[in-house]
Amino acid sequence: MRVLLVEDDPLLGDGVKTALIRAGYAVDWLSRGVDALAALKTEDFSVVILDLGLPDIDGLEVLAEIRRHSRLPVLILTARDAVEERIRGLDAGADDYVLKPFDLQELLARLRVVTRRSEGRASQELILGGLAIDEAQHRVSWQGQEVILGRREFALLLELARHPDKVLPRSRLESLLYGWGEEVASNALEVHVHHLRRKLDNKKLIATVRGIGYRLDSRVA
Ligand code: CA
Repeated sequence: MRVLLVEDDPLLGDGVKTALIRAGYAVDWLSRGVDALAALKTEDFSVVILDLGLPDIDGLEVLAEIRRHSRLPVLILTARDAVEERIRGLDAGADDYVLKPFDLQELLARLRVVTRRSEGRASQELILGGLAIDEAQHRVSWQGQEVILGRREFALLLELARHPDKVLPRSRLESLLYGWGEEVASNALEVHVHHLRRKLDNKKLIATVRGIGYRLDSRVA
């Protein structure tokens, strides 16, 4: 999953970004509202973490602009004493909020809640036939056997499993695996898919759609 983090506090932003990457998310971190809006126009994100106190435009304005176009899950960060701001954020379409200062584990838990709610799932476990993915525990089992995956393999499998039978374009999968500023080797995606197929000991679950991308075949799962 690719997260857009909009936070102007350098220490906090850095801490959140690190925690998200460790949890298996691809993260793009921006500190200005206008940059966030520009990025949202051109890039594909799964969820936004939005600080409401930004240096240029109000975070609520960013939220309103997002809601003009999409239902993308948005988690807002607000100060503990800013009750009115929080209420306005929820009224403006935020999916949930976290009060600063927050515990990083709580932020990650809230993030999982808003993303799975946006998918209409009640449980943190995503199950497709013999494939079970536990987002919170970062565990994957296939045909009853636990499979140990690297964080990019995990992110890739989770994204494919969140959209079963849909062809996900290469560019989208690559942008999910890596934020901006990270070099992506031209064959990196193939390498990760190859590893996934080997670890799952199945070549058909993740189908290659030549010239376009990959698709997780739910009939195989
Ligand atoms: Ca701020």
